[in-house]
Amino acid sequence: MKKHNFNSGPSILPQEVLQQASEAVLDFNGIGLSILEIGHRTSWFVEVINEARALVKELMQLGEDYDVLFLQGGATTQFMQVPLNLLDKDAAAAYCVNGIWGDKAVKEAKIFGNVNVVSSTKDKNHSYIQKDFSVPSDNVYLHYTSNNTVEGTQWHTTPNTNLPLIADMSSDIFSRPVDFSKHSLIYAGAQKNAGAAGVTIVVVKKDILGKTNRNISPIMDYRKHIEADALLNTPPVFAVYVSILTLRWIKKEGGLVEMEKRAKERADLLYSTLDSLPVFAPIVAKKDRSLMNATFTTHNKELENLFLEECKQQGMIGVKGHRSVGGLRVSMYNAMPISSVQALVDLMIDFNRRNG
Ligand code: PMP
Repeated sequence: MKKHNFNSGPSILPQEVLQQASEAVLDFNGIGLSILEIGHRTSWFVEVINEARALVKELMQLGEDYDVLFLQGGATTQFMQVPLNLLDKDAAAAYCVNGIWGDKAVKEAKIFGNVNVVSSTKDKNHSYIQKDFSVPSDNVYLHYTSNNTVEGTQWHTTPNTNLPLIADMSSDIFSRPVDFSKHSLIYAGAQKNAGAAGVTIVVVKKDILGKTNRNISPIMDYRKHIEADALLNTPPVFAVYVSILTLRWIKKEGGLVEMEKRAKERADLLYSTLDSLPVFAPIVAKKDRSLMNATFTTHNKELENLFLEECKQQGMIGVKGHRSVGGLRVSMYNAMPISSVQALVDLMIDFNRRNG
């Protein structure tokens, strides 16, 4: 029986995407070869990657001044590749640290240049988003994490800045309309809302590139990837294919407006239940709660383990909090049906009745 999949990533994908991907493994578009067997420079795959690049721009409503790449190494590699390409040794970049991923991004950037942490929410275990802060005008960019997967907070507005804005959107990309054009670079590991693990989507405004004095190894140089039409070396062909299937699904279902509507329905159901049940305690400030990852606790470890055990028995997986923070976490990405959240909520209500 299919599980209710609350995993934080890799995570739930639309059933029809899984079906189409599995068919392509056996026979890609009826060509008599598997998607796993075709060369990345064949017209078959060039069509796939070009459609994927165009679809990302279409969903984000971005124009010719942007390019889209499908890279490897995860969002973690972007923590390094962004400053490598954009931050000179004696220059400074501004970072908002709202969680462990932002913190890791800062550590990487410090290897390449100076870093100003202009906003940190560490004082309250990253349980809120700090939106008021000032940024030195000579900094070369401002970096933020739009959704904090581990802590369960999300930026519900885009940070206001005149600097080139860079976002790690790994865990909420394509989940809602955003003014993407306010950003100069957006990156996201695909394994939550945009496909399978193994590929990282990078959307870059071309005018920010080529401004550092550093000699960049071609494989790490965004410009070289753009010049090579996103085929500088062998991309993760199958992962890119799962992304195009996922992007087509998002478009067909009604695009980002529809994804946001569904995300709000799921999150409203879960958070309103959490707020009403004394056994559970939400962690994050109400106004900053993530629509993708809800974090909460049960006051004591015993109840937490009991609840996790009952989730398991009912086929609900991925409810355990990140290993660095503990507690409970429910991830509700684009493909999650409201029926899964309803099943969880029913269990929570019953659990509260028995243990409250
Ligand atoms: N940033 C965010 C917001 C994440 O959620 C994650 C992974 N869950 C990462 C970065 C790291 O991504 P990866 O494992 O693909 O390197």
